[in-house]
Amino acid sequence: MSKLASNLQIDSARLWSTINDTAKFGGTPKGGVRRLTLSAEDKQVRDWFRQALEAAGCEVHVDALGNMFALRRGRDMSKPPIGLGSHLDTQPTGGKFDGILGSLAALEVVRTLNDAGIETELPLCVANWTNEEGSRYAPAMMGSAAYVGDFTVEDILARKDGEGISVAAALDGIGYRGSEAVGTQKFTSFVELHIEQGPILEAEGKTIGVVDSGQGVLWYDGQIVGFESHAGSTPMRLRRDALATLSEIVLAVERIATELGPNAVGTIGEAAIARPSRNVIPGEIAFTIDMRSADASIMDALDKNLRAAAAEIAGRRKVEIPLDLVWRIEPTHFDAKLVDAVQRAAGELGYSHRRITSGAGHDSCNLATAMPAAMIFVPCKDGVSHNELEDATEADCGAGANVLLHTVLALAGVAK
Ligand SMILES: [Zn+2]
Repeated sequence: MSKLASNLQIDSARLWSTINDTAKFGGTPKGGVRRLTLSAEDKQVRDWFRQALEAAGCEVHVDALGNMFALRRGRDMSKPPIGLGSHLDTQPTGGKFDGILGSLAALEVVRTLNDAGIETELPLCVANWTNEEGSRYAPAMMGSAAYVGDFTVEDILARKDGEGISVAAALDGIGYRGSEAVGTQKFTSFVELHIEQGPILEAEGKTIGVVDSGQGVLWYDGQIVGFESHAGSTPMRLRRDALATLSEIVLAVERIATELGPNAVGTIGEAAIARPSRNVIPGEIAFTIDMRSADASIMDALDKNLRAAAAEIAGRRKVEIPLDLVWRIEPTHFDAKLVDAVQRAAGELGYSHRRITSGAGHDSCNLATAMPAAMIFVPCKDGVSHNELEDATEADCGAGANVLLHTVLALAGVAK
């Protein structure tokens, strides 16, 4: 690689101003962003993104689910491009970094290469994936999931939001139902920069997370069927109390995940008493369980231990506890060569770094099932994300974008 290319740095002040400028599309008074997928605000940022990439010489095209692709030509157009990017949609009360950093850093990489007059050997392609967040439409990571064939396009287009508006109607409403078939745009490999959304890098004072794996997920719909009876006249030993049972399940999930940790987590995030009343012993409860690990054998153990605990509690308390495993995603193993390339770039740039597992799902976890993929993390303040208070520093965002630039340069090569 030429000296020019190997010493190249992105313009972190320019990246920082694009992050702050585009935060006005759906900006909230508390400094966050509300930009639900395929909303009017999403259209505003998409239009801005398209214009910025076209101004940077890219050719922008859109597929049938609104996934956006901006091609920067390379010397060798016979091979698919190196992909980079993330998502521009946010949670209802989201921040201005989740997804956005990776998308705008990809734009910054293109601008930096343009300014330096560098042609890459392979082409580059900046992507903005539709509906990563999953808050308006299920599933999350929708655009990339359909791209890798986990769902049919027809299925996704028919999904409805809380107001009955289909994905198809929402795409048409903002003019982002493209003509290109989903999956047409191929990639040689894909690299995504993202904030960590967790506390590890900040706590350890590391600048770059070299993401080598993503957690697998187990989702259960659970139920407890006991017996409703009078809160005054039913003696304690004769009760079949669904809520008291749930409290044991909650503690069992906490214990099981802790015992199988540190590479395991477990959460009960939803619970609803059917027909709740102050003077009725709860007879029926619906609840959810979310358990995760980056190790498939630990996922198996989480499942086995959970079921054993539920059976023991159910027998002792004379209630039923049906558990329905509604979703299982296997752990992601990012491509070893790409992970090494990220680590090498971080090392050569002199940034402190460590290997890390992604606790959250990302588009790149989907993409990794179909192509070599990797991710770069930077710290976010107090590990807070999916919150208007989400924050990251200009220096860390710039560092992440530099690692993205040099990983992409290493993968795409510099034309002679
Ligand atoms: Zn994200």
